[in-house]
This record gives sequence, C-alpha cells and structure tokens, in this order.
Amino acid sequence: MKDESIWSPVEQYIHKLQDRFIQPTAFYPSSASCKVDGKIIGGWDSCLRKQYYKWKGVIPTNKIVYRSWLSARLGDAFESAFLDAYESQGLLKGRNIPFYTELMGLPIAGRIDGLTKKGEIIECKSGYGTAFSYSLKDKPKIENFPQILVYLAVLGLDTCILPYGSRDNTGFRSGFKITKQEIEKDGIILVKILKRWRALQMCVETNIVPERDFDLFNDWNCSYCEYFREGEDKRGCYTQAQIDEYFAKKKKKE
Ligand code: SF4
Repeated sequence: MKDESIWSPVEQYIHKLQDRFIQPTAFYPSSASCKVDGKIIGGWDSCLRKQYYKWKGVIPTNKIVYRSWLSARLGDAFESAFLDAYESQGLLKGRNIPFYTELMGLPIAGRIDGLTKKGEIIECKSGYGTAFSYSLKDKPKIENFPQILVYLAVLGLDTCILPYGSRDNTGFRSGFKITKQEIEKDGIILVKILKRWRALQMCVETNIVPERDFDLFNDWNCSYCEYFREGEDKRGCYTQAQIDEYFAKKKKKE
C-alpha cells in the first residue's frame, strides 16, 4: 500500500540539518573566486554577498529540500567510490585531509578530498544532466579552478587530479589533470582571490553588505542560493536596509 508517511523521519532529519547553521571562522577554498575579464570565476559559494550573510550569522531564507539534500549525498557517494578505488590500488596517501593557514592576515581552512602518493591532490566533482556532460567534453570547468588553486598554493603542490562523475543514471564520467601553471595561464591567480576575501573581510568588519555579484534574474548562482528570496518585498536577497532591520529585530529579542 502506498504510504508517504514512511518519509517523515527523512523529512525530520533534513529539517534538523537546517538548525546546524555554522558561522564561518575562516575562508574556505570552495568560496574562492576572482575576476577575469570582468567576469567572476568561482564555484557555487563565490558571491561575496552570500558569504557576507554567512559570516554575519544570517540564517538562510531557503530551507534545505529533499532534492538538494539527496543530490549532495549522491555527490559524497561519487567521491567515496572514486577514492575507494584509488585506495584499494595502493595509490592514495590520504583522504579528507584538513588544513589551516593564514595568508595576508586571512585565516584559510579546508579539507582536500584526497592526496596521491605522488603528491597530487584529488578534487572530486559531480553533477547531472546533459549540460553537465557537454560542458566537460574537452576541458574541466573553469569555475572549479580558484578552489583548486588555493589548495595547490597553500599546500605547495603542483598538480590536481580532477574526476567528474554524473549523479544521474547515465554513468557519465570525465577526468583531467591540471597544474597550477595552467590555472594561472587562465588569469586565475592567488593574489586576486586573496584580495576578494580581504574586501569581504572589510565589509564584515564595517557591517557593509557587498554588492550583488550575480544577476538575480539571469544567473544560476542566484537560483541555487540559499539566501535568494521571492516574496512580499520583491525578488532578491537581503539589502543593506533589510539586514540592518534583521539585526535590529534580533537585538530586541535578546
Ligand atoms: S541571491 Fe545571488 S546576489 Fe544574492 S547573495 Fe545569493 S548569489 Fe549573491
């Protein structure tokens, strides 16, 4: 018999994950980004305004939904499967390796997926759909480069192994090796990344909400952003005035 209530424990579990909002204490490579030819290059966490909200402890406006939770779990499964294979072949020196450093007064922390015995880092990426597989026909995704560059620069290494795998049932996979030099040739350099983080740090210290890095109406970053809102006060994420009001209300409650 059909019984949707069997999903209740899963929904409750996902709901509880929402309460585990953790305010950052360091800059994470997954949020690394820089401008190249006027365009911001970086992964899904690259918007400075979004990072600002996180640093200030603003609770995301969008709840975690089953679909995105499952998608993230499938991504983790892809990573584990890839690293298991490398490990069983005796190629792996370590996996999930944490690091912490300070550069230009910026605390930087992260965790690399894997490290081979040859000293190459492994960064596993996954996605789904034809757009994902088509975009990886000949080269890796440039938006992954800033994150990889931070890993390589901080750890003093030169090469990254970059496996891509699909989270759908196509079995699509693709693989690349990329060096620090090749990334830098594309105009993605560490100093530019650090400068953007420094600008964010200044905003956090002075309570100034950074400009929106992406176009609310035309950019995928916004449609996947946990701070994207559609409601009575129009489409968008918190403005300076709305954030000031948010903190004023919070203070009143305390
Ligand atoms: S909705 Fe778009 S512009 Fe606003 S914080 Fe999110 S990514 Fe940045």
